[in-house]
Amino acid sequence: MSTPKLKSAATSSQSAKAPENPVVRRKKLAAVRSVYSEAEREEMFRRFSIQRPEPKGELEHSNPFTLVVAVALSAQATDAGVNKATRALFKVADTPEKMLALGEDKVRDYIKTIGLYRNKAKNVIALSRMLVEVFGSVVPQTRDELVMLPGVGRKTANVVLSMAFGQATMAVDTHIFRIANRIKLAPGKTPDEVEARLMKVIPKHYLYHAHHWLILHGRYTCKARRAECEHCVIADLCRSPEKSCDIPAPLVELPPQVIGEGVD
Ligand code: SF4
Repeated sequence: MSTPKLKSAATSSQSAKAPENPVVRRKKLAAVRSVYSEAEREEMFRRFSIQRPEPKGELEHSNPFTLVVAVALSAQATDAGVNKATRALFKVADTPEKMLALGEDKVRDYIKTIGLYRNKAKNVIALSRMLVEVFGSVVPQTRDELVMLPGVGRKTANVVLSMAFGQATMAVDTHIFRIANRIKLAPGKTPDEVEARLMKVIPKHYLYHAHHWLILHGRYTCKARRAECEHCVIADLCRSPEKSCDIPAPLVELPPQVIGEGVD
């Protein structure tokens, strides 16, 4: 009779000590059913794809390095605010070497209109140094390497992998986190949970652009303060308790959004 008890105690103490396999962890995070059927999710993203056939990020950049810097600067700042500052900065420093040569004080001057600029200037110099010294001045193409760079977290790495290297990733920002929970597409308590669940419920063939579609939908229609359901193309499909309209907006391609119109 005592054997099972001992065995179970040993198992529980082992599992408390053993680090969880990351693949198992992501599977657990993703383990939730969307309230939408496969056909409804397909239809939802088909409509987003008609509205915005070629969605683009709004952060200006000229190469993977300037993209890393722009994304790192965009935390708690608007894309328009970052673009204003980086236009002049990237003219003089569009490679890690040039950024290092410019130095922290000058970088700080260029970006002082952006929130948290002191810390961000430090990070820009530190990440440039690491790129030169560790990565041969080339922006790495894996998430594990990208998050080694100072000031680069999982979200920034996902944006860079998607926009610079064409990988289907889901960088969960404030808009995506809100929409996933508000409309119950992939509810989760943390950005990691939402990311894992969205990666599972979004039809694979729509995954590459889904990140931008959801951000733009959140920025311009399903807004934080008031969801503009009367302008929403998925109003008939949406199961949000906050929904104020059941009639979908006409499904037409939208003109490009004005940079900086939305505030993150
Ligand atoms: S119907 Fe309203 S709540 Fe639902 S996705 Fe559209 S804007 Fe958001």
